[in-house]
Amino acid sequence: MLYAQVVLPLAQPMYTFSVDEELGVGVGDAVVVQFGSSRFYTGIVWSLSDKRPDYPRIKPILKRQYTTTLLTAESQRFWEWIAEYYMSTVGEVMRMALPSLAKPSATSFAEIDEHSLDVPKESYIALSEELRSEAGLMEYVARNSRRAPRRTELLDIIAATALERGCEDGFVPRRLLNIPSDQLLMLRKRGLIVVQEREIKGASGGSFLCPTLSEAQNSALTAIREAHKESKVALLHGVTGSGKTEIYIHLIAEAMSRGESVLMLVPEIVITSQLVERLERIFEGRVTTYHSRLTPLRRGRTFLRLAASTGGELIVGVRSSIFLPLPRLGLVIVDEEHDANYKQSDMAPRYNARDMAVVLGRIYGVGVVLGSATPSLESYINALSGKYAYVELKERWGDGVLPEVVVSDTIRAVKRGERKTHFNRDLILDVERALRGGDQAILFQNRRGYAPYIQCRTCGYSPRCPHCNVTLTKHKATARMECHYCGYNIPIPTQCPNCQVQDIALMGFGTEKAVEEISRLFPDARVDRLDGDTSTSERAFKGIVERFEARETDILVGTQIVTKGFDFEGVATVGILNADNLLSAPDFRASERAFQLMMQVAGRAGRHNDRGRVIIQTAQPKHPVIQYVASGDYHGMARTELAERKSFGYPPYSHLVRLLLRCEDYELLRRASHYVAGLMRQKFGGRVMGPVSSALEMLRGEHRSEILLKIEVGASMQRARGMLADVVQQVAQMKEYKSVKIVVDVDSW
Ligand code: ADP
Ligand code: ZN
Repeated sequence: MLYAQVVLPLAQPMYTFSVDEELGVGVGDAVVVQFGSSRFYTGIVWSLSDKRPDYPRIKPILKRQYTTTLLTAESQRFWEWIAEYYMSTVGEVMRMALPSLAKPSATSFAEIDEHSLDVPKESYIALSEELRSEAGLMEYVARNSRRAPRRTELLDIIAATALERGCEDGFVPRRLLNIPSDQLLMLRKRGLIVVQEREIKGASGGSFLCPTLSEAQNSALTAIREAHKESKVALLHGVTGSGKTEIYIHLIAEAMSRGESVLMLVPEIVITSQLVERLERIFEGRVTTYHSRLTPLRRGRTFLRLAASTGGELIVGVRSSIFLPLPRLGLVIVDEEHDANYKQSDMAPRYNARDMAVVLGRIYGVGVVLGSATPSLESYINALSGKYAYVELKERWGDGVLPEVVVSDTIRAVKRGERKTHFNRDLILDVERALRGGDQAILFQNRRGYAPYIQCRTCGYSPRCPHCNVTLTKHKATARMECHYCGYNIPIPTQCPNCQVQDIALMGFGTEKAVEEISRLFPDARVDRLDGDTSTSERAFKGIVERFEARETDILVGTQIVTKGFDFEGVATVGILNADNLLSAPDFRASERAFQLMMQVAGRAGRHNDRGRVIIQTAQPKHPVIQYVASGDYHGMARTELAERKSFGYPPYSHLVRLLLRCEDYELLRRASHYVAGLMRQKFGGRVMGPVSSALEMLRGEHRSEILLKIEVGASMQRARGMLADVVQQVAQMKEYKSVKIVVDVDSW
């Protein structure tokens, strides 16, 4: 008899079951087990042993599910790594990876018929039978070349490609033909070509029609290849519009030609439709998208299909796609690697997919590319230290030029009477210019994560925490300005601590208001809004984007979402309505994020037409971050910001671990939080900050508080995690605090 350690999709350790050898169960297989008296689960066999553990009763595995083994040894190691690093369990990783297994097994996933899984296919094209011989084609060309020159030219291209590529049966993969689809359709309708759908056999590789690279792109590509030869991660820092995607395409094609699969992570799938279309044109039939809007069943099917894949797959997916089984993984790409969406904060495992992509690459021994126009400081410092290879693309591709950035001082505008509601004259004039020229404008107003802060209307000053270097936020309950990290607080000042003038104001307004005001200023313009409220569904979102793309909208007002990688042709003007609320976010990353957001949204301007313009409205025109955006100086920003981070001991010089405590009883929560913080201080001393109330003080009837722990780089995270786990466990066993829930968020954002 064998004994299996089985992972169940629960926040539990593994359980042991006995295995009847006739079931043919191996490590990595899906199995059905009974758990408790009446529940059944699908689990994954983690390990097998012939030693009977000394439990009085061991239940048997009921059956094996699927002939396909779900996990390779590499995947197992990867899942274990994540579970350990983020202080969660392999079961929680499984629940994330296979959401259809999260329920007892009598549900959808169990009903997947393995034989019904779609095998990826691609089209092959050949001339019709009569034309496939040289004589037949020549005759046709002779008869038609005058009358239908384009048609005969196309047939020639197909015949020549078949010959060049050594396609013996005359069938050429569609992807190798640089012919638009409507023209192929025309040939097909006339019976001049035939189309066959053929299964893709990964291991057999293939070749692809990649775009020709510029010199700069070529050297970047070479540098990335070199980095991968040395088993180094490559950080591709390329300004917006520099053509990072074209470089990815070459790397993907190379991996696929070797018969390997590629995982490409993107921060959000809806904003990637342009990217996916581009990739599909080149890697026809091999692109699989993966995101959380797919049903659990669809995701289960994808998981199962990939587990059996022989390679040659391109997965374009959001953060959770790092859990997919990738038996022949050859390359990992993380696009927009700085994006906060890569971090999962609301549910275990609280992982960062960008960081885990690097781990994945190490476990599989394959190349990793992190790409961004504004790399995270975490990645940048690794490039500085030589741990990652640093590859830079400084210019836009082709004739593209970066937009001109204009800093518009709101305080001065008010004094001169050049400000109408929330718009400075500079911006109004520029929007007018764009509209007059038949172009479009994007207006960006940050709102997500918006916290009420105060600012002096005369000098632009906002009070900050002297210990934590973050802006203080106004707290309703206490009517004081508080630090969200350490709890430091001051009364709400009535006069500016900096310039002594009594002109201090509570700041913040939303996109809705901006739409209202801009419509009043430009009554003839067609204005639309793109934010969380207007894009609740994918359809609504796509509608707004497509209307803007088709130039049916003149002005698009939006939140963060407009800063993402859109490629709009007609945008001449980008306005950043209030840079101050970006800079004032109560977050140690505020400066970095403000820089990234402003650079990204600026990148939407003038991508195709003449030089675009970006107008930044701010009360702090001299603020270093604003200056760095104006001069496009990423390195300057990074240098300044790293110095600040170092002196306050923030990432990338430390790891932040956040403990979130929740309880319905406020008083109990307060006591427990202080007790836990006290225990932590005994072990970690001054590295502990808090407890403080969370930014979201109450959620679903529960009060929330937080304790922060800073572990400096160089100290053992493993030891710190162990010590912290002890604290959490100790508190969990205390009757008094039974109703207090504690979660740990490692490398929290
Ligand atoms: P990034 O992702 O770096 O912002 P993109 O890859 O989106 O830049 O490229 C910007 C634009 O330039 C796109 O429209 C793209 O098609 C074009 N482009 C970039 N490189 C090339 C190339 N080598 N050949 C043809 N077009 C290119
Ligand atoms: Zn503080």
